[in-house]
Amino acid sequence: MKRIILHWTAGKHKPNQIDIEHYHFLVDGEGNVLNGKFPVEANEICRPGRYAMHTGGGNTGSIGVSMCAMLGFIDSKRAGNYPVTAVQFERTMKLCAELLKKYKLELSPETLLTHYEFGQKHKNTTSYGKIDVIHIPPYPWVKREDCGAFIRAKVKWYLERL
Ligand SMILES: [Zn+2]
Repeated sequence: MKRIILHWTAGKHKPNQIDIEHYHFLVDGEGNVLNGKFPVEANEICRPGRYAMHTGGGNTGSIGVSMCAMLGFIDSKRAGNYPVTAVQFERTMKLCAELLKKYKLELSPETLLTHYEFGQKHKNTTSYGKIDVIHIPPYPWVKREDCGAFIRAKVKWYLERL
């Protein structure tokens, strides 16, 4: 595997069946980590209908991690009734650290990035314009363009403690 791509589901604080099919790992609003339908290795080579389809134009070699949250999000001032919770965010950061270690990936903007960042780097894919993750409810002052770096700094903290 070459990278982790971080998402939110744009749903409620629990995953639905579609979420389970589209990500390898889901973190619910209480901070529980749930496995998706497909194992990480299903995305080594993506065969139709047999991999976790989480990032248009970037599924191959990508681990999909998603926070179950953000239904009704409009912008940082109107984040909806299902914002990412503090415990959920922290558990997700720890999970990313655990996955980097397990898959022997060096932490960088190439190995851990948000779906939003992937879209910005690949403007000719369907991932362009995706808004996960451009707002972190427990840290509402982090600006859109800084969310990826903020996430990597958090994950670095957990990595150093594994
Ligand atoms: Zn996404």
